Amino acid sequence: MTIQAKAPGPRREGPGPAGASHEAGGGAPPGPSDSSARDGGPQGTAVLAGPESRKPSGRPGDTSPFQAVNEFFYEAADRIGLHDELKPLLITPYREMRVEVPVRMDDGRLEVFIGYRIQHNGARGPYKGGIRFHPSADVEEIRALASLMTWKTAVVDIPFGGAKGGIQCEPKTMSARELQQMTQRYTRHISYIIGPSRDIPAPDMNTNAQIMAWMMDAYGQRFGYTPEVVTGKPIELGGSYGRESATGQGLAFVVEEMQSDYGFRLEGATVVIQGFGNVGSWTARILHAMGCHVVAVSDVRGGIYDPRGLDIPALLRHAGEAGTVRDFPQTEAVTNEEILELPCDLLVPSAIGEVIHSGNAGRVRARIVVEGANHPTTPNADHILRDRGIHVIPDILANAGGVTVSYFEWAQNIQRHRWELEKVHAELRKVMSAAYRNVYRTARENDVSLRMASFMIGIERVATAVRLRGFV
Ligand code: NAD
Repeated sequence: MTIQAKAPGPRREGPGPAGASHEAGGGAPPGPSDSSARDGGPQGTAVLAGPESRKPSGRPGDTSPFQAVNEFFYEAADRIGLHDELKPLLITPYREMRVEVPVRMDDGRLEVFIGYRIQHNGARGPYKGGIRFHPSADVEEIRALASLMTWKTAVVDIPFGGAKGGIQCEPKTMSARELQQMTQRYTRHISYIIGPSRDIPAPDMNTNAQIMAWMMDAYGQRFGYTPEVVTGKPIELGGSYGRESATGQGLAFVVEEMQSDYGFRLEGATVVIQGFGNVGSWTARILHAMGCHVVAVSDVRGGIYDPRGLDIPALLRHAGEAGTVRDFPQTEAVTNEEILELPCDLLVPSAIGEVIHSGNAGRVRARIVVEGANHPTTPNADHILRDRGIHVIPDILANAGGVTVSYFEWAQNIQRHRWELEKVHAELRKVMSAAYRNVYRTARENDVSLRMASFMIGIERVATAVRLRGFV
C-alpha cells in the first residue's frame, strides 16, 4: 500500500465527541452479570472524560495515556486526509466493561478488586489484546492500550481488532491461590463479551501462561473446551511454540531489517534495556545471541551497567535465582531514570509507559529508541527526540511480534494443529519484515517519522474496513 500524505491540520488536545458503535461479527448478547449492559445504552459513548480518567502526568506538555495515543492518531488522520466524521468513530472504544472481582484472601479478608475489559475497534476482526495486573491498570491506561492494539494489529496486517484488559492489583504480594481466584472470577465476569470470534485475551504485564491457563479453564467451565479463547497458553494446553519469546523475537527481526536503512550493524552494537520481564529478557537474550553488547538492563528494583557488555546467559541465571537483576557481580548500579540516559546505539524501554517524557527526552543518548513497551514515549518527548535526530521504532511496530504469534496460536487452535518452532519463526519474520518495509517506505515517501507512518497505515486500514462493512 502506498499512502500519500496531505498537509497535517492543527494538533488537538484530546478526543472528539463519541461516535457510533462498531464490532466484529455483531454485538455479543449480554449475560446476566454484564454490568455494562445493565447500566444501559451502548458503552463507549460517554466515557472518554469520565471521572476515572487519569490526569496528565503533570510534566509540562505531557498528556494522559489515552490523550497521548489520540494525539498521534489525529496528526496521522490529518496527514492521510481522513474525513472528520470518521475521527470520533475511530478513536472511541466500542465497549468498556468494568467488573467487581471479590477475592477471599489467604488471611480471611475479603478484598474487592476492579477489573476492566475494553474493546476498542473490531472492524478488522475479533478484538485482541493482553490482560495486565498492575496497580495503575486503571480505565485510562487500559483504554490507551486497547486503542494501541487496534493500530498495532492493523500495522502488521493480522485479522484482529484492538482490546485490552486488566485488574488493578499488586500481584507481587498475592499468593498463587489468590491470583487463581481473582483471575477465574474476572474471566467469568467478562466471559459474555470474550470468545474465539469475539475477543481473545493474552498475557501482558504481570500475567503469563499460567494466568492464561486459568482463564481458559474458567471460560471452558461455562462454554466447553475452547483453547482458542486466549493465547499465550502453556504448550501443554495448546500454546504455540515461540509465543513466549515472540515479542522480543519480533523486535529483533525489525532491528535486523533496519540495519542497512540506518547504517548500523547489530554485531557490536550497544543496547540498553529497561525492564527484564518477558519482553526485556527475551530481547536481551536474542540481541546478545545476534552479536550485540547489552550494556545495561533493569527491573522494577533498579538496574546494572557494564560498558563492556553483560554476560546475558549468566545474568539470566542470576535473575532466576535472585529474583532481580540487581547485584549482578562486577557491574555498576544504575537507577531506572539513569538507565534511560546511558549512551548506546539501541535503547529498548520494555517496562511501563511514559518513561521517556518532556523532562528527560533531552538527555537520551541513544541513536535509536526501540519501543518494546507500550507507549513508553509521550508525544512531547517524541517531538524532542525527533528534533534531536534520534529515531524511534514505535510500539505499534516494534512490539507487534507478540500479537502476531498470538494470531498464529489462535489459528493453530482453531485447526487443532501445531506448527514447528521453525515455521513460527519463519512466518513471524515474514510479517515483521513486511510491516517494517511498508512503514519505512511510507515514512520516506511522506517525510514523516516511523511512528507517524505506522499510524497512517493503521488508520487507513481500519478506516477501509469500517467503510467496507457499512458502519458509516
Ligand atoms: P513483565 O511483567 O513480564 O515484565 C515487566 C518488567 O518491567 C519486569 O522486569 C519489572 O520488574 C519491570 N518493571 C515494572 N515496573 C517497573 C518500573 N516502574 N520501572 C522499571 N521497570 C519496571 O511484562 P512484559 O510482558 O515484559 O511487558 C512489558 C511491556 O511490554 C509492557 O509495556 C507491555 O504492555 C509490553 N508488551 C508486552 C507484550 C508481551 O507479549 N508480553 C507484547 C507487547 C508489548
